[in-house]
Amino acid sequence: MFLSKSLVPILKNIPSEAKIKSHKLMLRTGMIKQSSAGIYSWLPLGFKIMKKIESIVRLEQDNIGVQEILMPTIQSSEIWKESGRYNDYGEEMLRIKDRQNREMLYGPTNEELITEIFRNSIKSYKSLPQLLYHIQWKFRDELRPRFGVMRCREFYMKDAYSFDLSIDEAIYSYNKFFLAYLKTFKKLDLSAIPMAADTGPIGGNLSHEFIIIAETGESKIYTDKRIFGVNYSDTVVDESSLSNLRTTYDEFYAVTDEKFDQNEFNEKVSDDNKLITKGIEVGHIFYFGDKYSKAMNASVDKDGKKEFVKMGSYGIGVSRLVAAIIEAKYDDKNEIMKWPINIAPYHCAILPQVSKNDKSNLEKSLNIYNYLKSKNIDAIIDDTDEGIIAKIKKFNLIGIPYQIVIGKNSTDEKFEFAKVGEDLQFLSTDEIENIIKKDLKN
Ligand code: ATP
Ligand code: MG
Repeated sequence: MFLSKSLVPILKNIPSEAKIKSHKLMLRTGMIKQSSAGIYSWLPLGFKIMKKIESIVRLEQDNIGVQEILMPTIQSSEIWKESGRYNDYGEEMLRIKDRQNREMLYGPTNEELITEIFRNSIKSYKSLPQLLYHIQWKFRDELRPRFGVMRCREFYMKDAYSFDLSIDEAIYSYNKFFLAYLKTFKKLDLSAIPMAADTGPIGGNLSHEFIIIAETGESKIYTDKRIFGVNYSDTVVDESSLSNLRTTYDEFYAVTDEKFDQNEFNEKVSDDNKLITKGIEVGHIFYFGDKYSKAMNASVDKDGKKEFVKMGSYGIGVSRLVAAIIEAKYDDKNEIMKWPINIAPYHCAILPQVSKNDKSNLEKSLNIYNYLKSKNIDAIIDDTDEGIIAKIKKFNLIGIPYQIVIGKNSTDEKFEFAKVGEDLQFLSTDEIENIIKKDLKN
């Protein structure tokens, strides 16, 4: 791919409306474009990243046996009246009327719709558990949309739902998601801490928010530092192993503002281990029992007896994650972004020095590009007329993990190569390929 032919509208100046580094970077590198307050178009660079995050989220859902479906964005008000949330949800819900004057809405979440699907499809307890998810746009008419895609009105979310016969089985389902979330965020190179949370308008009594530490986060957090050391790599998906993992995590004090209690904090955490900071909520899981199944009459037959199913719901902010990863990884002082290679929009940037009279470096670039492509390494060539320093700076900002500079120092066999933000070294295409391949494997 040639940069000159890509829709990557790089801005020279930092847009003044952007207050946090992720929003600044996303606008500067043309990842998104605001179309109205809190509503964005995703341009190629941003969209590629979001899609890669989405596929990691999907893989970890599939790994614990969740079935993927797709529900619509527009829902009927009827089911929300059944659950009682049509009024409760308030002004965050975007309400729409169709031409028949029917009350519709743009879904802010899907508990009602999935419960309706469940009650029409599943009759026997033998079909339980049912674990279902979809990845779909949501709309919440946030009072103060801000920070770009971090808190916007239309956003992309993975939401999953579990249906079980008993509370114990429902907690087992909950714990599967707990582990899947830890693994998902780890694959995104983020360290997310599960924190005991309030259940809010979704209702219920068991909930964890997954928070990543960031100065610009909107949640104030209070935690025991040792929680970062919990090891889940040996946890397998069986009931007791997962239950032990939950217990291990829950033993450490970790809460946001809403649940904070100074006395409890002092009692449970020594001063050395106290961490008070800010964080970004990237995921949220809930167990809420029969709150919706009772209200909406979703039950199964067990030995001739009607049992209301026990439910949970599990969200990940896929579009918010793009911004959250930038908050965690962008060095805004030196203007260097480092996308983990598994979600970077390209693996490698090829930066030839070109002038009006000499296009030979462009030819070399194309050869390297084709070679890398044949090895499944995805590169972009900056074929613009800018100087080499400007090109390097631009790609430091965009954050493609590797750069190959093709200029007066390169020979026919060796080129200047660097990991973004690090020193250049002379390497052959084979050596370059090996380094990138190794990173891709990790
Ligand atoms: P918040 O407290 O940040 O408003 P929430 O508790 O309302 O989040 P959930 O209903 O649990 O969020 O939604 C699941 C996930 O969707 C959140 O963890 C977050 O990552 C994402 N999300 C929620 N609201 C927004 C928003 N306005 N813009 C972008 N992502 C969002
Ligand atoms: Mg909210």
